[in-house]
Amino acid sequence: MNIETKCLHEGYTPKNGEPRVVPIVQSTTYVFDSTEHIGQLFDMLTEHMYSRISNPTVEAVEKKIAALEGGVGAMCTSSGQAALLLSILNICSAGDSFISTSTIYGGTVNLFAVTLKKFGIECIFVDADAPEEEIQKAFKPNTKAVFGETLANPALSVLDIEKFARIAHKNGVPLIIDNTFATPILCRPIEYGADIVVHSTTKYMDGHAVQVGGVIVDSGNFNWANGKFPEFTEPDESYHGVVYTKDFGKLAYIIKARMQLMRDLGCSPSPNSAFLLNLGLETLHIRMERYCANAKTVAEYLNKSDKIEIVNYPGLEGDKYHDLAKKYLPLGCSGVISFSIKGGRANAVKFMDSLKLASNVVHVADIRTCVLHPASATHRQLTDEQLVAAGINPGMIRLSVGLESVDDIIADIEQALEKIK
Ligand SMILES: *Cc1c(COP(=O)(O)O)cnc(C)c1O
Repeated sequence: MNIETKCLHEGYTPKNGEPRVVPIVQSTTYVFDSTEHIGQLFDMLTEHMYSRISNPTVEAVEKKIAALEGGVGAMCTSSGQAALLLSILNICSAGDSFISTSTIYGGTVNLFAVTLKKFGIECIFVDADAPEEEIQKAFKPNTKAVFGETLANPALSVLDIEKFARIAHKNGVPLIIDNTFATPILCRPIEYGADIVVHSTTKYMDGHAVQVGGVIVDSGNFNWANGKFPEFTEPDESYHGVVYTKDFGKLAYIIKARMQLMRDLGCSPSPNSAFLLNLGLETLHIRMERYCANAKTVAEYLNKSDKIEIVNYPGLEGDKYHDLAKKYLPLGCSGVISFSIKGGRANAVKFMDSLKLASNVVHVADIRTCVLHPASATHRQLTDEQLVAAGINPGMIRLSVGLESVDDIIADIEQALEKIK
């Protein structure tokens, strides 16, 4: 199946007389006719047992996303942040470190630099554009993973995924990629060597701003038995002594995430949310195409305006990341643009408050055009140094171009720019 077909048909295949659309199984639990049967499920989860661990509606969406990304398995979570947290906790324990590029989502900076630090896990930030030898210097004996975003939120830098996969694998650790902005329609990081892919499904995958969610996808390609990851190769006493690499093979990572972390931390999505996410996924391929086309037109318009200092959109000829975009995002660079208005913070705020069609919201990748001022919202907790490292200046606006008529979007921007002296 091609990816457009997968968006519609993967994950759920009704049999004779069954519902056409994946049903919402809004049930916490499942009935079995014997105590022995339930006992067996505790030994080896072959059926749904309790909806914190797994649920048929959620499972259908997990299978679809795994197929879209080209992975062997996936696990949905209650938010993108939960997916990020579990993706790291499944590999790192207190005393370990991991490497992350500094151009990442503000919420992830907090999670990595502040909250995981309290867990005893150190995050070492590196410049994504630094040469390999430079990044290599950041590795320590206890470094267990490397992390980056395909298309960074909101800097809109494009990650050289192959470079990072090479560095990670040379050091015997997996590469985790947050593919939220690109979605598997525009880029499938596993094809470039990523081992684990995470998403905030809240963004384009859902697309309609109706539910918060996340997902972790396992490529099945990483060799967890290379000696660096004893949790994968030694018996798990909390789960009747299973050895993940031995008992689950290519599914070791994603099953471990479910059986240890989802079981114990419980950040599971609701079946109703999974149903809504599935609706979003069904049209993802068409929406991404239009987001990219609209955003490119808007970026070209902004680029010509004398009121704009800089436009960051890797789809633009001359953008710093245009060459990487041609390689990793050949179909387009999503609907998100970031730009700075001349006159800094004050003019940025004036511009945003003058918009009529575009809404001022703490969201991105919605079907409706929206704007955000990162320095006073998503990245508010960051120090000035962290802001600069994340590729953000105080006057920067993040514009998420929606699916309205592109002429209406530009007319709105034009009238708001006119309000600025
Ligand atoms: C929004 C976002 C997150 C966090 O996801 P939530 O669903 O809001 O928890 C993580 N990474 C990126 C790139 C995001 O855009």
